[in-house]
Amino acid sequence: MGSWVMSLERASKRESEFEPMASLGENHLAEDWARVRARLLAEVGEVEYRTWLKQVTLSGLTGDELVVTLPTRFLRDWVNKEYGELITAFWQAENGAVRRVEFRTAPASARSNAPSLAEPVAAPVPAAPSAKPEGSSAPLDPRFTFDTFVVGKPNEFAYACARRVAEAPASAGFNPLFLYGGVGLGKTHLMHAIAWELSTRQPGRAPVSVAYMSAEKFMYRFINALRSQSTLEFKNELRSVDVLMIDDLQFLIGKDNTQEEFFHTFNALVDAGKQIVVSADKSPSDLSGLEDRLRTRLGCGMVADLHATTFELRYSILEAKAQRAGVDVAPKVLEFLARKITSNNRELEGALNRLVAHANLFNRPLTLETAHEVLHDVLKAHDRKISIQEIQKRVCEHYNIRIAEMSSARRARNIARPRQVAMYLAKILTSKSLPDIGRHFGDRDHTTVMHAVNRITQLIAQDAAFAEDVELLKRTLEN
Ligand code: ADP
Ligand code: MG
Repeated sequence: MGSWVMSLERASKRESEFEPMASLGENHLAEDWARVRARLLAEVGEVEYRTWLKQVTLSGLTGDELVVTLPTRFLRDWVNKEYGELITAFWQAENGAVRRVEFRTAPASARSNAPSLAEPVAAPVPAAPSAKPEGSSAPLDPRFTFDTFVVGKPNEFAYACARRVAEAPASAGFNPLFLYGGVGLGKTHLMHAIAWELSTRQPGRAPVSVAYMSAEKFMYRFINALRSQSTLEFKNELRSVDVLMIDDLQFLIGKDNTQEEFFHTFNALVDAGKQIVVSADKSPSDLSGLEDRLRTRLGCGMVADLHATTFELRYSILEAKAQRAGVDVAPKVLEFLARKITSNNRELEGALNRLVAHANLFNRPLTLETAHEVLHDVLKAHDRKISIQEIQKRVCEHYNIRIAEMSSARRARNIARPRQVAMYLAKILTSKSLPDIGRHFGDRDHTTVMHAVNRITQLIAQDAAFAEDVELLKRTLEN
């Protein structure tokens, strides 16, 4: 199976493969390219576009093969792997002469004969780490570093553990490091960050070889090794690394042979003083279906939980991402997103990307209205999660009143105020209309709901203790 710990160099067959090509003017290639780029931007969103695709340069067409270049081999391989099909499909649609797209590397100086195109996006490319991890088996996302990881209450412990492992792999008490939490909470980000940190040469430290891969990839490799009768080679390669990272271990559930192999590798590495980092969607004890002895060993080191995000963390993440992308997003819009998109950070980022792409394409400022419009479908999906009933229940628990009071006609302050709070929360946490909300509160009129919303908004502005109370309710509802 060849060298299993794949180095990024190996993926490139040809060095310095750039050769200038003629005839950019023919076939209207430059115009087609501009259209392909616009479609790519619309398809992947602005942040991704700017991180990866902006650096693709059109080189020329030879026969039915269109050649594009990227400044580094890493970028070339990544873009080819992640976007190759998309780029090819868009080219084929734009220009019937193109059958294939070839990705090459070209030094920046050799790229000067490329057509200069109007850039759909003006802001600078976020700096990707220049270090390339030696011997890492899967490419690392250059955006997933410690620098770009926003730390807050829900993830500070996991972050601290990850930092510690990156600074001093295989320290007592931190081996293995087991990171767990729901989808999109930052497990993969932290693992890549550890890998980046370790693979960046530090003065006075021996180079560290890191193998990072998903559990699925691990399984795939293992099965291939079995097939091609190269399991010994597989084992040796795997056991030669200093740090082994397996992402999404839950995929090994029910895959007994692979689990067994992983278990042995795990033991061999730990015995040799090497670091293991594993992520999963559940804690070791909750990963039922995993062999007991493996489960026990996984729980032996440090187990760190990534909790569900909070409003504060979501807001900070959005702020950081917007800043990194070089776009100015009004705090109001950030707040809106952080309140509405509560499931996980991936969705949050996706929503921001869509907004930014939209604003760029139509050259419109990012207002709350635009946000509502563009994210219509996402918001609708989220509304299903916070229901008016749920809001009423929480508010009643909080103020210690009966749920029937939400619909009753009683006007006593200790009843009416919580009812107003519930209406207010229904307004800001769901996208239900005022009449709709009114119906849930004993068929009240929409003007009553509007009055409640105004009254509570006013009170929040005047009374800090009250504001805190409402904020607390809001937060518990969102999480
Ligand atoms: P998981 O592996 O837990 O499913 P990821 O690590 O893939 O989640 O994170 C999903 C997305 O959210 C990624 O783009 C990641 O960069 C981003 N993300 C998650 N947590 C944070 C954070 N604390 N700061 C910045 N970005 C984050
Ligand atoms: Mg992940």
